[in-house]
Amino acid sequence: MEAYRKEIEGLEIVTPQQLEEYRIKFLGTKGIVKSLFGEMKNVPNERKKEFGQVLNDFKQFAETKYETAKEQSAGNGQQAVEEIDLSLPGDAMQTGSRHPINLVRKRILDIFNRLGFAVADGPEIEDDWHNFTSLNLPEHHPARDMQDTFYIHQNPDWLLRTHTSNVQTREMEKGKLPIRIICPGRVYRNETISARAHCFFHQVEGLYIDEHVSFADLKQTLYFFVQELFGKDVKVRFRPSYFPFTEPSAEMDISCLICGGDGCRVCKHTGWVEILGCGMVHPKVLENCGIDSNKYTGYAFGMGIERIAMLLYQINDLRLFSENDVRFLRQFV
Ligand SMILES: [Zn+2]
Repeated sequence: MEAYRKEIEGLEIVTPQQLEEYRIKFLGTKGIVKSLFGEMKNVPNERKKEFGQVLNDFKQFAETKYETAKEQSAGNGQQAVEEIDLSLPGDAMQTGSRHPINLVRKRILDIFNRLGFAVADGPEIEDDWHNFTSLNLPEHHPARDMQDTFYIHQNPDWLLRTHTSNVQTREMEKGKLPIRIICPGRVYRNETISARAHCFFHQVEGLYIDEHVSFADLKQTLYFFVQELFGKDVKVRFRPSYFPFTEPSAEMDISCLICGGDGCRVCKHTGWVEILGCGMVHPKVLENCGIDSNKYTGYAFGMGIERIAMLLYQINDLRLFSENDVRFLRQFV
């Protein structure tokens, strides 16, 4: 113990590491103090009291050294902190920015949320019934060719959904009416990748089913949406179209944001740009999902988020969205 005492007296503890090393060597669970207490059992009974006293003195001595060194090293730390110059500029931190697709999706959802549409979600891997057949697109229907996709199994038919309409089908099958939902999500098509087409993109679809829902409701809702998103001056037109799941069906155009309707490259010199497809839900689709088509009517619409983002930000190549080029991405906040 005398030898240890001398060793401790001679020790110079400056750094936190030295302090910790000291603690482990003398005061730790496998330290010297502990092992000396272990010797107690070898001391004859009549000398135990005396040995205990000496041992306790030594323990106290070792602990005092530790406490003193600890206080001193805390003082050193204080000094070090005071030497930092707080007036120096800090290191800039890269926080990144939101992806343009997410920015536009949020803007679209915010508008429809204010109109009382709830966001609904569904699977990206879907069966044939929910993606095609229930939507009046039976096998061998020619319109299926326009939505060729990637199959995971042929039988049973599992595929990557070609639109977010599968969410609508699933929502209708729940049988809780009225339905007023907006369905954002990623969709897939077997397309050759180019500036205008990709094998995956993002959609937002809307569905409203209740008693007495009419085409006038559809037009007014979409008119409001366009004005909120693109501004009050934007003009809207509906062109008759064909979709298997709506009847009547229409494509909606807005006046070109670039040229204001005079004609330019973006609008192919027509003054109009197509932004979405819409229509009244086909009675057969309602019946397929167990809804009484004599009592209920509804409208549906769908748009590509990429297409809207390209118009809003004047982006001319669809591939930019998925190339992860930070020079492109950091332009959006
Ligand atoms: Zn134009």
